[in-house]
Amino acid sequence: MAELHRHDIVIVGGGAAGLRAAIAAVKARPGSSVALVSKVYPMRSHTVSAEGGAAAVARADDNLEMHGYDTVKGSDFLGDQDVIQAFVEEAPRELTQLEHWGCPWSRNEDGTVATRAFGGMTTKRTWYAADKVGFHLLHTLFQTSMQYGDIVRYDEVFVSKLLMDGNECRGVAGLDVRTGEMMGVLGRAVILATGGAGKVWPFTTNGNIKTGDGMALAYREGVPMKDMEFVQYHPTGLPGTGILITEATRGEGGHLINSEGERFLITRDYGVGTKAELGPRDMISRAEVQEIEAGRGIDSQYGQHVHLDLTHLGEEKIMKRLPMVRELSKIYAGVDPVYEPIPIRPVVHYMMGGVDVDIDGFADGVDGLLAAGEVACVSLNGANRLGSNSLTECLVFGARSGVKAVEYAKGTSDGDDAALARMGEEEQARIDALRGKQGGGEKIAAIRTDMQSAMESGCGVYREEASMQQTVRDIAALKQRFEGVTLEDKSKVFNTEIIAYLELENMLDVAESVSSSAASRNESRGAHTRKDATARDDVNWLHHTLCYYDPAGPRLDKKDVTLGRWEPEERKY
Ligand SMILES: Cc1cc2nc3c(=O)[nH]c(=O)nc-3n(C[C@H](O)[C@H](O)[C@H](O)COP(=O)(O)OP(=O)(O)OC[C@H]3O[C@@H](n4cnc5c(N)ncnc54)[C@H](O)[C@@H]3O)c2cc1C
Repeated sequence: MAELHRHDIVIVGGGAAGLRAAIAAVKARPGSSVALVSKVYPMRSHTVSAEGGAAAVARADDNLEMHGYDTVKGSDFLGDQDVIQAFVEEAPRELTQLEHWGCPWSRNEDGTVATRAFGGMTTKRTWYAADKVGFHLLHTLFQTSMQYGDIVRYDEVFVSKLLMDGNECRGVAGLDVRTGEMMGVLGRAVILATGGAGKVWPFTTNGNIKTGDGMALAYREGVPMKDMEFVQYHPTGLPGTGILITEATRGEGGHLINSEGERFLITRDYGVGTKAELGPRDMISRAEVQEIEAGRGIDSQYGQHVHLDLTHLGEEKIMKRLPMVRELSKIYAGVDPVYEPIPIRPVVHYMMGGVDVDIDGFADGVDGLLAAGEVACVSLNGANRLGSNSLTECLVFGARSGVKAVEYAKGTSDGDDAALARMGEEEQARIDALRGKQGGGEKIAAIRTDMQSAMESGCGVYREEASMQQTVRDIAALKQRFEGVTLEDKSKVFNTEIIAYLELENMLDVAESVSSSAASRNESRGAHTRKDATARDDVNWLHHTLCYYDPAGPRLDKKDVTLGRWEPEERKY
């Protein structure tokens, strides 16, 4: 192995969760050495593309109790209530902290922070910076992180293995994409902040880098994946590209319209009540699918869609609050939302499930391993996340895991460097053997396409026993085919074929855990909606799903939901 770098803790991921964790760690224990490893330059993390905003109580007509209840109800009662309470309490402090670091939150006329309405929230609770929230938030975190010399960055280093000392995680092996050399980055604790896995599906708002790497790394070391069946479809993606049109469009007053010109969330009963367009994402995505299936969709070269109408908002408001939406619609859908409705349909957006962690971010079953942000399932979001809770989740639980990781590191000793270096060398040999790998002629792109269509047919907005089981079998078969992949590029420098190979390997593991978790849940809850088991079943299914890796096929288990303040009740708006 070319190089071995030692730090106190290692963070994998330079998005909102990773950067927030790094800052919290060096502030909690000044002098701690923190490695921040990222497969892309941090400002290119998916966080940068967030548009609509971040939720936290700010207004006089709001309180923590209301934010807590909205989140519990949004989760279809599968969120852990201790986690939700900690989250709503910490959220306002985190967003204010961000302001002090320079985040330009939009303001009201009187100078107070402006908030907008978001789906499933009782009042205006979403802080925003026009519709470029992710850019401003990530920029603020990135520039703040640069003030701390103890945060050492390893940009464009692809982590392909966790380095284990018995049951303790002691660092990572990463491929320097520029040179093709492996390096070992060692620490007494490792935080995964690698984001979600939307690329497992064909049609997604997610950037190409969202391939579930951290989930797969932890899964293969024996950490269970939790609640993987809950995959969020966002109701407003542009047909063709899947580019997101933010929920802020509806928060600012946009309407959803079918081919008959009806505001179907008002004229028909989809369970969203008077919330209409501000209902939660799972319900609105289902309503759109039902409208299309009932023949009230609109044809396009990319299949059927419905319309998002902003024309009544007027040019001034659109330019002030939603300038990027106008730009994206013009470029990618050829419509100007000031004058015409935008074509939209449901699109894969977010993973509620992920690495099973406790309230402090510690992963279940492996010591010294933590996770935060979209890669983790701390059980804030349960069966359905409310829009704008995710960015705040990255800040709250990113910070918490950073503090906990340095505390943990203080109380433990370094691992066995020689043993870790040997493990890194084995990983180096595995990667070296991939250059120009002679296989059975299978192509990465073909397997990836087949995986994505299997996931769309079995793990879409609506699900059924037979198609979910078929997807489970298809993914198992694709993992076999993956063994026969042939790689052509023998070069070391920027060998993107190897990166694509490693990402596909990870996505297949994520797909396996999603499809088998989905096939096991015999009820409808939140984003997991079965046509053949339409009711929520609290007697048998009010629990988290755990999925464990096993070379012979995944093993499933259950975990209790932490209830408390709010008793489960029928979820209607
Ligand atoms: C288009 C879009 C708009 C959104 N808008 C909103 C919004 O308005 N409000 C809201 O609350 N949420 C929104 N979300 C969701 C939210 O943005 C994400 O859930 C959140 O930003 C995830 O942050 P993260 O830090 O967990 O991961 P990411 O920002 O995805 O960062 C992951 C990091 O991990 C690194 N990484 C991954 N794999 C590896 C590896 N193998 N080796 C090394 N490094 C690796 C990457 O380089 C990257 O730095 C949106 C999401 C999308 C896709």
